[in-house]
Formats: sequence, structure tokens, C-alpha cells
Amino acid sequence: MDLHTITDVVVARQRADLTSLGSSTAVLAGGTFLFSEPQDQLIRLVDITALEWPAFEIVDDGLEIAATCTLAEFAGAAPGHELGKPTMRDQWPATALFAQSCRALLASHKIWDTATVGGNVCLALPVGAVLGALVALDGVALVWAADGADRCVALRDFVVGPRRTVLRPDEIVRSIRVPWSSMTAHTSFRKIGLTALGRSGAVVMGRRDRDDRTAITVTAATTTPVVVDFDLPPSERRIRRALDELDPACWLDDPHGSPQWRRHVAGVLAGQVAAELRGS
Ligand SMILES: Cc1cc2nc3c(=O)[nH]c(=O)nc-3n(C[C@H](O)[C@H](O)[C@H](O)COP(=O)(O)OP(=O)(O)OC[C@H]3O[C@@H](n4cnc5c(N)ncnc54)[C@H](O)[C@@H]3O)c2cc1C
Repeated sequence: MDLHTITDVVVARQRADLTSLGSSTAVLAGGTFLFSEPQDQLIRLVDITALEWPAFEIVDDGLEIAATCTLAEFAGAAPGHELGKPTMRDQWPATALFAQSCRALLASHKIWDTATVGGNVCLALPVGAVLGALVALDGVALVWAADGADRCVALRDFVVGPRRTVLRPDEIVRSIRVPWSSMTAHTSFRKIGLTALGRSGAVVMGRRDRDDRTAITVTAATTTPVVVDFDLPPSERRIRRALDELDPACWLDDPHGSPQWRRHVAGVLAGQVAAELRGS
């Protein structure tokens, strides 16, 4: 839809073009959310897609995923291949979660080609499955401020409520870094919704690192992604008890499922994820 209050669109081509960020300005990435409903509080958009950040970069301590990486690029990730090296998908089994999380979105391939990883993370919807996958993989966001300062935020601390993050109005997410320990981990994924192709009611993602440390992440069922850590893959009883002990207010209540149902199915799915990780 047209956004009638917008009077200025800045196409950023370098970091210095981000100085106009602020409270009545929004970062424009894929625009799949921004153009889907009125944004009357905004007067300016700063388009970051012309910054031409490579979708993936292999760095010393992991894989860096640009905020502007599209969901299609993310889902198809075999980043070694993209960088002209032999494909490393076999060495990076965790990339399976990239595609699985994109398929958990209630979105067509048209959205996949345009929507970005950074947009999904910053929108911070409870059904933000790409956000959930990057939380499950212990991702860390590199945040750029308009004044040139940088900071890193662990993604598990990034979202503070539905559609609320720790980002300040003059900040953007530049990239998300996934550590090698997560890229080489075994993962498991389960999703349930009230209808087969409908919106997710609960998504559970598990990660077992090579040293056996295990993290189970619940999203879509909860208002923000919830991570439970273990030294070893937990038994079904242990993970269900851990979920039962969460703050009851964390379970999402909307037309796609009641909190009681979500808590129950998340427990069932988490048990399956834990069993799969125990066997991996
Ligand atoms: C049909 C349809 C189905 C959808 N289904 C789902 C779904 O199942 N789950 C889900 O989570 N979402 C869903 N969405 C919402 C949205 O499309 C996705 O979350 C998408 O990933 C957003 O990415 P984008 O690049 O289009 O973001 P944009 O629309 O460009 O931006 C989204 C928000 O994030 C901010 N932003 C974007 N990039 C950055 C950045 N790098 N730094 C700081 N702020 C930034 C923008 O200012 C804006 O507030 C759906 C949308 C549609 C139209």
C-alpha cells in the first residue's frame, strides 16, 4: 500500500548515509511488512538494500549473515559454494534450520525473494521463525548507530516483547554472526499449527553442539523466543518440566492458539526434538 505520510526516501549507499535515522524514520529493507499496513508515525524511509552487503561472509569465528540477506538466499544457503569454495553444507549441518525456519513462515515465494533476515529479526513478531532459528543458533547481532558507534547484542537478548527490541531509533542491524560451534551442531526442528499450511502455533528448534551442550528454543508459542540450555541433550521429562516452569505469561494468546494449548504442544514437540538430538 502507499504510505502517504512519507515525504523523504533516502537510498543509503554508504554508512554515512544512515545519519538521518531517528524516531520518525524507518529502515526500509524488503518492505514486505512496512508496505503492508499504514505507518502514520513515519515521515522518512532509509532504504538499506543499495548498501550491497554480501549475503554471507565467512569470518574467523563464524558465518556472518547480512541483515539484507533475503529469505530466499537464507533458505538456499550453501555459503561455501556462493563464495566460490566447495559447498560446505555437509560441514555446516545447522544450515538445515535456515530453510526449515523460512518454510515455517506464512509467506509465499514472492515474499521470500524480497523479505530480509534483518527485517524478520527487527520486526520481532512471535512467529518470526528466522529470528527463532538465529536465536537457536546463538546468533549475535552487530548493531550500527547513526553516530558511527557499533555494539553487539546476543539475539537471545534482542527481543523484549512482541514487536519490541532493544534497538534504539537511530540504530540498525548490520548483520548476524553465527558461531562455528553452532554451524557444526546437530539441529532438530518441529512445527505445529491449527491448519497444515497456516500460521505456526508452536515452533521448537534444538541444537546439540559437538561438546554435547544443548539448547532448546521455543518460538511462535511464546511472546518472545525462549531458550532453555542443558549440558547434555535432556530427557523428554526434563525438557517438559523446564517448559512447565517458565513464567505462565510467556505463552502467547491469539486466534492461532490458546496459551494452554501452546504450552502443551510446545512440550510435546520439545520432547521429540530432545529425543532426536539424543540420537544424533
Ligand atoms: C503475506 C505475508 C506473510 C508474512 N508472514 C510472516 C510470518 O509468518 N512470520 C513473520 O515473522 N513475518 C511474516 N510477515 C512479515 C514480514 O514479511 C517478515 O517478517 C519479513 O521477514 C520482514 O522483512 P522485510 O525485509 O520485508 O522487512 P521490512 O518490511 O523492510 O521491515 C520490517 C521492520 O523491520 C525494520 N528493519 C528492517 N531491517 C532492519 C535493519 N537491518 N535494522 C533495523 N531495523 C530494520 C523496519 O524498519 C520495519 O520496522 C509476513 C508478511 C506478509 C506480507
